[in-house]
Amino acid sequence: MTIQTANLGFPRIGRHRELKFALEAYWSGKADRASLLDAAKRLRAENWRLQREKGIDVIPSNDFSLYDQVLDTAVMVGAVPAAYGWTGGPVDLDTYFAMARGATGAGAACGHAHHGGGHGVPALEMTKWFDTNYHYLVPELSADLTFALTENRPLEAFLEARALGIHTRPVLLGPVTFLKLGKTRDGSDPLALLDRLLPVYARILRELSEAGADWVQVDEPALVLDLSGAERDALRRAYAGLAQAAPGLRLLVATYFGRLGDNLDTALSLPVAGLHVDLVRAPDELDAVVAKAPDGLLLSLGVIDGRNVWRADLAALARRLAPAIARRGAGKLQIAPSCSLLHVPIDTALETALDDELRSWLAFATQKLEEIALLGRHAGGDGDGLAAADGAVGARLTSVRVHDPLVQGRLAALDGAAQRRHAPFAERQAIQHRRFGLPLFPTTTIGSFPQTADVRKARAMHQRGELSYADYKAFLERETAATVRWQEAIGLDVLVHGEFERNDMVQYFGEQLSGFAFTKHAWVQSYGSRCVRPPVIYGDVSRPNPMTLEWWAYAQSLTEKPVKGMLTGPVTILNWSFVRDDLPRETACRQIALAIRDEVLDLEKAGAAMIQIDEAALREGLPLRRADWRRYLDWAVECFRICAGGVDDATQIHTHMCYSEFNDIIEAIAAMDADVISIETSRSKMELLDAFTGHGYPNEIGPGVYDIHSPRIPEAGEMHALVRLARERLEDGQLWVNPDCGLKTRRWEEVKPALVNMVEAARRLRGDA
Ligand code: GLN
Ligand code: ZN
Repeated sequence: MTIQTANLGFPRIGRHRELKFALEAYWSGKADRASLLDAAKRLRAENWRLQREKGIDVIPSNDFSLYDQVLDTAVMVGAVPAAYGWTGGPVDLDTYFAMARGATGAGAACGHAHHGGGHGVPALEMTKWFDTNYHYLVPELSADLTFALTENRPLEAFLEARALGIHTRPVLLGPVTFLKLGKTRDGSDPLALLDRLLPVYARILRELSEAGADWVQVDEPALVLDLSGAERDALRRAYAGLAQAAPGLRLLVATYFGRLGDNLDTALSLPVAGLHVDLVRAPDELDAVVAKAPDGLLLSLGVIDGRNVWRADLAALARRLAPAIARRGAGKLQIAPSCSLLHVPIDTALETALDDELRSWLAFATQKLEEIALLGRHAGGDGDGLAAADGAVGARLTSVRVHDPLVQGRLAALDGAAQRRHAPFAERQAIQHRRFGLPLFPTTTIGSFPQTADVRKARAMHQRGELSYADYKAFLERETAATVRWQEAIGLDVLVHGEFERNDMVQYFGEQLSGFAFTKHAWVQSYGSRCVRPPVIYGDVSRPNPMTLEWWAYAQSLTEKPVKGMLTGPVTILNWSFVRDDLPRETACRQIALAIRDEVLDLEKAGAAMIQIDEAALREGLPLRRADWRRYLDWAVECFRICAGGVDDATQIHTHMCYSEFNDIIEAIAAMDADVISIETSRSKMELLDAFTGHGYPNEIGPGVYDIHSPRIPEAGEMHALVRLARERLEDGQLWVNPDCGLKTRRWEEVKPALVNMVEAARRLRGDA
């Protein structure tokens, strides 16, 4: 028996990141508009052909974007804020990119006359797409916004594919999710705009239908979030309206990234022809969906993981799907990836540097298409023909490279004691104050210093084999020594080594841990032209050798002042990697925690008196549903405490987090019990410290006073004023003075005066106190 196969979206960047290079050439003025659009067109054609060649029946169009699909939607419906100077009609490329990246106002970046005066316009805000590491541009809405169809891009994409002989199912971002992701400046409810937005969607659908489209995929991932009654009503209203828009056109509402849960009935009650569900994130929902779905509804079963890189166990999937097929009939089902394949790399065949065994375990977007096709051909059957794929899956499950009895033994022996510091914070604080004798408002930085072109060049040369390790190391020592001496000279109280040896705060550790693999070409879009290559955690994690000791010891040998040991925490390492699917996330995280704990203890033994464990990504790992937060936070906090729990009371544990919204996670932050936490607050005028005040948080805090995302150099007076605001909320004895985050993206010309001013601000504060 065969079942129709479908895809929801394909990566846009191209096998060799062609889109990135085409965009950058255009932005820098090296290539013109036509060559950018040409490159994009070639990529779309290549993707469509590949999907057809792999045997996918339902191929998406309009899943491509030059920058971001949410921005595309905003532009399509005319949600272009006045600042960008758009006056109607199709939105030109430069306005589009100004919304994506901001415009300098120098004239070239933005074609509009009134942007030529050197004012410039900032980009739209950017934030994470659900719980992925993809970032979208936040639509800027307002109560008086009137929508208008600027250009029917989905129709253009549909026609472009048809000209190549490929009949596609166009993809739209659904109106409710679009509005829910948007922000209003005037505080009005974005969903109040729904009735004004629907006619634009209706027209898009009508035109698609007239052009010959029979199905349209409308993405409503908002259906996996906690929704209010009003939001559910909005969904029902939206689809009641759109279902009528074009008789004969069938809509498939696509949900992904989680279970429908309490939104299941709403989803099933929408008057649409099809529903896609994510059965990787919510495998247990299959039965309920199949049992409750109206007879006529087409169910798209998202069974191939669009968020991870492992080959699927197709025979097991075929067996799991068999009852659903028997019950509904193959004609009412489709096999699909759990979500768009945007979030996985393109092709394992490019990974010639990985060994064959490891590579055989992986499935990137291209391999996932093959899996979907294979499963579609054999679903409901006996699993014949699925055996080859299963070979690799079985081999991984039992491989000695994956399973390390030593790690598993340590995990099994873990008990609460590993997480406990000896004395409570108040006692530790007293011991640490005696040990360090720091002034009030001690000054420090978050870890990294500028990764200059020279630093990056030396690293690249060393990687290419053009610079010997000895020479590379000597270069890094010079950078480190100069940075330590400079920090000492300007009077910072607690120093760092500068992180010059690190390519990236996760990769640096992953490369030294066992159980991690790194790819050469497995790029995934992060935003626009920016791509990342997340590490792949494939096996039990351990730390064969110290990872940071040498650099810390070298830096500490140059000064009497304390130099912080500098580590990335387990939750952040986990959240920025592809993880195993044969192990709960929390177990993988505990393994990493034990490895970091080993490093912490080695640093302490070598004499490090302060050790910072960064958890930049702890908050962004929060599950999409509130009901799941507690469990996540419990194990995330436990993992941090495993890292820190073994040290002496006199050893000061620092942590750092790159945000300041702590209101809803303050209990967890307090439970981490770091002696000092540094956070990003300079832009929030310290109001976000209220979470700590309200909780009676007793430990020490360094609220950022220097916005490192901006090239601007803050004056001592500004930073002094910010700490004064912090003093209204916290005790003097709790406060540290530091920048918002690491300084790696800044230039020395900015960093030097800014930190001199910061030290001056602390001096003035001590004078006030
Ligand atoms: N220690 C790291 C740095 O300074 C922290 C970076 C981060 O939290 N994103 O670069
Ligand atoms: Zn940070």
